[in-house]
Amino acid sequence: MRNYGRTSIYEFLGDFVVYRNLAPLDPRLPALPVLRAEVGLPEGITPRKSQPDYARVMAFLLRQARALETPNTPIERLVYVGDTRMNDGTAFANICHAGNWPGLAFIGAERDEPARVEIAGQDSGTLYLANRWAALSDFEDFCRERGRHRPLRSTTSEGFPLDERTAVVVDLDKTALGARGRNDHVIDHARVAAVRRTVGDLLGEAFDPASFQAAYDRLNQPEFHPFTADNQDYLAYMCLILGSGLYALESLVADVRADRLRTFEQFIARVDTRAAELPDHLRSMHGGIYALVQQGDPTPFKSFRYNEYETTVERMGQSDDDLPVTRLLQEEIVITQEVREIALAWKERGALLFGLSDKPDEASIPTDDLSAQGYQPIHRVETHAIGG
Ligand SMILES: [Mg+2]
Repeated sequence: MRNYGRTSIYEFLGDFVVYRNLAPLDPRLPALPVLRAEVGLPEGITPRKSQPDYARVMAFLLRQARALETPNTPIERLVYVGDTRMNDGTAFANICHAGNWPGLAFIGAERDEPARVEIAGQDSGTLYLANRWAALSDFEDFCRERGRHRPLRSTTSEGFPLDERTAVVVDLDKTALGARGRNDHVIDHARVAAVRRTVGDLLGEAFDPASFQAAYDRLNQPEFHPFTADNQDYLAYMCLILGSGLYALESLVADVRADRLRTFEQFIARVDTRAAELPDHLRSMHGGIYALVQQGDPTPFKSFRYNEYETTVERMGQSDDDLPVTRLLQEEIVITQEVREIALAWKERGALLFGLSDKPDEASIPTDDLSAQGYQPIHRVETHAIGG
């Protein structure tokens, strides 16, 4: 593992990036309202990464992005680089379907087991699942082989070349940044630090770090996912309410286990009936979050997400350049050198590179205040590139 110096995602993706709400960062691409009209996406609905509507937006954006740089060169095939079989695999298959493109996807991770690769065929496209990020270079050979021996629906005779008719979608979270199995825990640490900071700031002297951590760790368990919807905004809100003393962790756990509380919506509605018991500033915080939950906003705890932007950026590029690589991987969110290297090579060959992130925009893009101080969106923040 080596340190390849400082860079940013911008180096290989430019501003061809969308975060969770699908608003393109590159001003040359259609703004969100135009996008919505073009693909027939209703106002107020933001599809999640694994939904077909998300893929329709992505396919549209890829074509628009391609037309900006090389007009009259249609996209004919799709390559996807991600880290989760279910979520990325589904998004990949949906984008292939939406664009009517053949596709190959690399799903990577670093795991402490013998190196191996699994090829999984599916109707729309093929998954190349690897337990080493270094296998990205073999994936490239695989694309070439795949093209030669088993042409997919490609219209060109050379099979599956990585050229200007190829769109490459790169997942940011735990793929290009904070590689899964190698550096992803730092992304999680940044998020928990943001929950802690948010809840701590709101509770002030009443904040008890130990009971906060106990509540967070407990409710973050898969057992409670049906209740929390595995939603970190919900979890942060619960930690706040528990910290305020309105509810005790044990009685919340008992209510969930006994099915007296099934959903987060029930919980926040119940808190609302007792909101008068909360101190003024917590009551108004609760009111704001409850209103957004009722509007269907999946990231209703805005101050938590703004803090997450800060705790994330604080963990990017903050270390000295000569810090040992093992410590950089422990302390910093770093760029995955293998992903960077292959993305640069494909870009050089003319492929379209486009990044997507499932991180909420509030946690990815600085507020106007911070932006005036020089803060940048995550994909433009410099950090070290580390890899084999
Ligand atoms: Mg990911």
